Amino acid sequence: TPQPLESQKLRKSDKLANVCYDIRGPVLDHAKRLEEEGQRILKLNIGNPAPFGFEAPEEILQDVMRNLATAQGYCDSKGLYSARKAIMQECQRKEIPGVGVEDIYIGNGVSELIVMAMQALLNDGDEVLIPAPDYPLWTAAANLSGGHAVHYLCDEQAGWAPDMADIRAKVTSHTRAIVLINPNNPTGAVYPPAVVRELLDIAREHNLVVFSDEIYDKILYDGVEHISTGALADDDQLVITMNGLSKSYRCAGFRSGWMIISGDIAKKRAADYIQGLTMLASMRLCANVPAQHAIQTALGGYQSINDLILPGGRLLAQRDITFEKLNAIPGVSCVKPQGALYAFPRLDPKVFNIQDDQQLVLDLLLQEKILLVQGTAFNWPEPDHVRIVTLPWAEQLGDALDRFANFLSRYRQ
Ligand code: PLP
Repeated sequence: TPQPLESQKLRKSDKLANVCYDIRGPVLDHAKRLEEEGQRILKLNIGNPAPFGFEAPEEILQDVMRNLATAQGYCDSKGLYSARKAIMQECQRKEIPGVGVEDIYIGNGVSELIVMAMQALLNDGDEVLIPAPDYPLWTAAANLSGGHAVHYLCDEQAGWAPDMADIRAKVTSHTRAIVLINPNNPTGAVYPPAVVRELLDIAREHNLVVFSDEIYDKILYDGVEHISTGALADDDQLVITMNGLSKSYRCAGFRSGWMIISGDIAKKRAADYIQGLTMLASMRLCANVPAQHAIQTALGGYQSINDLILPGGRLLAQRDITFEKLNAIPGVSCVKPQGALYAFPRLDPKVFNIQDDQQLVLDLLLQEKILLVQGTAFNWPEPDHVRIVTLPWAEQLGDALDRFANFLSRYRQ
């Protein structure tokens, strides 16, 4: 006999059992409810530049609009030729060798490409080394693909550099790949070439694919330089570099990113994997075409992001005030972010009594109407960090951090 309708729950797939993306998790639902009630929330939770007045360069908007009429059809699954050519030239500037237009895949943001890259690579039980803290889409995508995200620690005492001993200890016969996020979200670390080289050495020893997420490669402070992983790797190492328009070019809503395959000798060995990537790219036909018309304009010519990060620039001023205000709070310490759009301060467990960092962030939302993301959402193992987006004007950030300091004083033990 058929079961009564109310007992036949529609359950999500078991594939989602280990998949979570808590940057947009339960606390955000509370924030939405408060907004519906008419409250104003200061959203320091998502790295979305445009709502904070960081608008895309005018010439990018003009070029997308000018090309709209001719962007009605599907394009090649890997993307528009002119856009891929511009990305190829960007690879030459970043000294990533041997990249041709066929080695470039354009996607609906880096997000889509991260999922595609994991889906094409992983068999059930395969392991991927992912940093902790991480940008959690990497973990979610590895787990969704039947793989298993294994987190290697980054060392806060060492400016959040990857802990090489921890990486070595966590490589197993199932490890297929290692992920590097540089400049890093959430820590703001930018790795010197020696660190990247050491990581590449481990990858070579164990024949791991290297995924290098470089979406913040142009958001750098204090004159620090970013060197692409692909520029430091040997020809026999497969490196997949991700980048896009969302951050440096402030068009996150356009959903446009790209993936570059480098390592001339390795590419031959990886032909089957690359064929898998091409198939997944063709299954979704192509990425949003109008947005692809922004790529050539964005990458060529003057890089307006420099006005924001050099001395006198708005992003730099905001990074500075965040860093200063956080470190002035007793019991809080923050490594100076050298790139990207975030700070990831530590709330000393000897000073604060925090058992559950999601509850902390929820309390802050309810009491101060400020929305942060808890450190554990970035797969950080302890409830002793939060991530703060450094996008609001310095004055607004300063005020928010004063309120955060006040709020935290109630958590002192
Ligand atoms: N990778 C990192 C490290 C990010 O921080 C983000 C977005 O915040 C993404 C990838 C996703 O970017 P996209 O907008 O290109 O999907």
